[in-house]
Amino acid sequence: MKIAFYTTKPYDRIWFEPMAEGYKMDMIFLDAPCKPNTLNLAEGCDAICIFINDQITADMIDRLCEMNVKAILLRSAGFNHVDMEAAKGRIHVLRVPSYSPQSVAEYAVAMLLTINRFTHKAYTRTRDFNMSINGLMGTELYRKTVGIIGTGKIGQSMIHILKGFDMKLYAYDLYPAQGIDVEYVDLPELFAKSDVISLHCPLTKDTHHIIDKQAIEQMKQGVYLINTSRGALIDTNALIDGLLSRKIAGVGLDVYEEESGIFYEDLSNQIIQDNTLARLMTFPNVLVTSHMGFFTSEAMQAIAIETMENAYALEKGMELVNEV
Ligand code: NAD
Repeated sequence: MKIAFYTTKPYDRIWFEPMAEGYKMDMIFLDAPCKPNTLNLAEGCDAICIFINDQITADMIDRLCEMNVKAILLRSAGFNHVDMEAAKGRIHVLRVPSYSPQSVAEYAVAMLLTINRFTHKAYTRTRDFNMSINGLMGTELYRKTVGIIGTGKIGQSMIHILKGFDMKLYAYDLYPAQGIDVEYVDLPELFAKSDVISLHCPLTKDTHHIIDKQAIEQMKQGVYLINTSRGALIDTNALIDGLLSRKIAGVGLDVYEEESGIFYEDLSNQIIQDNTLARLMTFPNVLVTSHMGFFTSEAMQAIAIETMENAYALEKGMELVNEV
């Protein structure tokens, strides 16, 4: 089997390359993202392997089918970047449904602890021997209220960790989980009661801009917001208004609705064209990171193994347990 891996960085290759021999697969590693004009690079391949910012449109699926590519292997759990309607019955889409939810949950907590105690600001100050702590007064998490939106694998891991801070937890999910010790409430109640809101649901038609102007209006004054799920869960312009009015005290964003083409790239010498992102960066109480909640050695290894298992099952005609 021959696979073209798009959008690969050195930290992807170190996990996949050693597996090529064992799985007897031919791997082509491409720096390029998967786009209409880079699809030809997969000519002669049985599958392509893509990451979260490779948008696969209906036209691209038509072209992949013409090229006789049989599968799209996702190095992710989320599949909102693939036109699933167009793919249905024509090309297999195989994902990695779970790869260390703890990695993302621990990262979400790290973001929260950063924005509520300003450790990002303290770090840069002390590097310059500016030992002043003016303006860095934080707030405790102890006995504060958290609202978790989405109580799947990552949301549940988050709940488990935050209980250790003795926080009061509320949750909202379309499909509440059984047997977890959390009180489910509807969204308006969650917004009204939470000192901290953390997003752990997938991006769907229903959850697009689940945090918009109306949602922010219902939130507590001084709320902290953490998004490690997908950027488009938040209407960024409404978020900026919420920060300007000081309704929102701090934001941790590991994802951004227009992150494609920006995140994972070194643009430090370039003129940034995205005014919204540039504005976000000016707030001292906003922490933006480049979609790296998953980025631990444990998760990377799990992604590589599961992706190769998906390819192997396809090649051998076995049951495709991770088919979307
Ligand atoms: P999961 O499928 O285990 O859980 C998602 C939960 O969201 C489910 O309980 C589901 O019922 C719920 N849900 C679905 N639609 C909803 C709605 N309209 N309102 C409220 N809840 C809804 O997924 P997971 O593994 O916990 O991952 C959650 C999200 O985290 C993924 O969708 C992905 O977007 C994101 N993610 C981010 C990173 C990162 O590096 N930052 C890594 C992995 C996953």
